[in-house]
Amino acid sequence: MPRLAVATRDDASLPASVDVVVVGGGLTGTSAAHELAIAGRSVLVLDAAAAGSGASSRNAGMVGRYLKYSFGELMEARGLDTAKSIFGEMQRVYEECIARIRDEGMDCALRMQGRVVGAVSPAHRERLYREWDLRGRHLGEAFRRLDEPRSEIGSRYYHGGVHIIDNAALQPALYADAMCRRAEAAGATIRSGCAVTGYVRERHGRFRVTTEHGNVVARDLIVATNGLTDARLPAFANRIAPINALMIATEELPGDVIASHWPQLRTYHDNRRNSNYMQVSPDGRRLVFGGRTGLHRSPTPQAAEALREEMIALFPALREVGLSHVWTGRCAVSADMFPHYGVSDGAHFALGYCFSGLAMAPYLGRRAARLLLDRDEGDSFFRHGALRPMPWLARQEALMPVIMRYYRWRDRPAPLAA
Ligand SMILES: Cc1cc2nc3c(=O)[nH]c(=O)nc-3n(C[C@H](O)[C@H](O)[C@H](O)COP(=O)(O)OP(=O)(O)OC[C@H]3O[C@@H](n4cnc5c(N)ncnc54)[C@H](O)[C@@H]3O)c2cc1C
Repeated sequence: MPRLAVATRDDASLPASVDVVVVGGGLTGTSAAHELAIAGRSVLVLDAAAAGSGASSRNAGMVGRYLKYSFGELMEARGLDTAKSIFGEMQRVYEECIARIRDEGMDCALRMQGRVVGAVSPAHRERLYREWDLRGRHLGEAFRRLDEPRSEIGSRYYHGGVHIIDNAALQPALYADAMCRRAEAAGATIRSGCAVTGYVRERHGRFRVTTEHGNVVARDLIVATNGLTDARLPAFANRIAPINALMIATEELPGDVIASHWPQLRTYHDNRRNSNYMQVSPDGRRLVFGGRTGLHRSPTPQAAEALREEMIALFPALREVGLSHVWTGRCAVSADMFPHYGVSDGAHFALGYCFSGLAMAPYLGRRAARLLLDRDEGDSFFRHGALRPMPWLARQEALMPVIMRYYRWRDRPAPLAA
């Protein structure tokens, strides 16, 4: 289960100058820092909170090849060749993530157990089958249809599903912590509890970075703050919409409840745009369950209870089970709903993961660092000169519940009360 804060690294004082300041010590920032440090740059990662304590350690731990658009939608909008090329890059992103964890022996409870996507109505099932038939045919992705999904997930709620064979699960806080250690081992300095309050680009091109604990001059800057980007970095805050996601973990469950509901210990979600998602914790004892994305700004008892009711609607056997943990995390959506890296007014950035950053954030963090080093490795669909501004309305957090309720209505049925 996610530890809510990884160890703080806040005892060092700030150097007067470094080659690169990286703002944000999550998966994006630590991956960028690692790449820069092994290239011999002096790197200072500054994080407002504990490095790794953002979305990177609060997520659902599902690793796959996902964008906010399905392969079918991209095929229709951009043609088969472009859709194949985008998903070809997604495959490389995924493989890079798994190879990094395995080859470097990262201790983050990686499991290659596959994923089950359930359909919440017959119409959703047809959409799901259409998408995976296309992915199988054009991308060669291995899957099997689940006309009777109860052998895979013990819920009467699903009308069918697919089992995606090559998908992974991990423990997010261990992964975020391993990425911090890896960057430090390469020579980067990580300073937690040190918010960047702004920066200016001076005439000779260097950045004067102001922080809560003094100023640092840097030849280059990488912004890696994703959903936690705020008015302190206005050039980027205007280009993403932050969205809160809510998660709960149950108390320990009896072994027979786990075995009868999630016998293969895969990851699970449904194919609504605003879905419920879950995995059994790596110790095999609890269900970690998420949903109601965008509806709650903080993990209040009411928010937890509403999500618990959704869980019970899927799994009535959990009615008497208490919760051990409730937490939120911040995702970020870009104007075109794709993640991006690039350079804007001299500042490098990688952000906008739209809920799927476990593989993508380290990849784009690394690519942003390579771009800065003038060693980027060729084309990427995700490279962007400057992020498109996000419409003002979409950035208003107070309106987010209204927008998300609209998506839930459009994607109905929502889970029924048990
Ligand atoms: C509940 C939830 C479930 C998710 N589930 C999945 C999943 O199953 N699979 C998947 O692939 N993705 C998932 N994601 C998305 C994934 O977690 C993120 O895309 C990814 O972690 C983004 O990493 P990051 O380093 O860019 O951002 P973060 O980890 O959020 O790090 C940003 C950092 O920037 C720091 N920061 C912000 N402003 C400043 C400042 N001014 N000065 C200094 N530091 C600053 C913050 O303190 C934070 O540590 C989920 C996200 C959430 C919230």
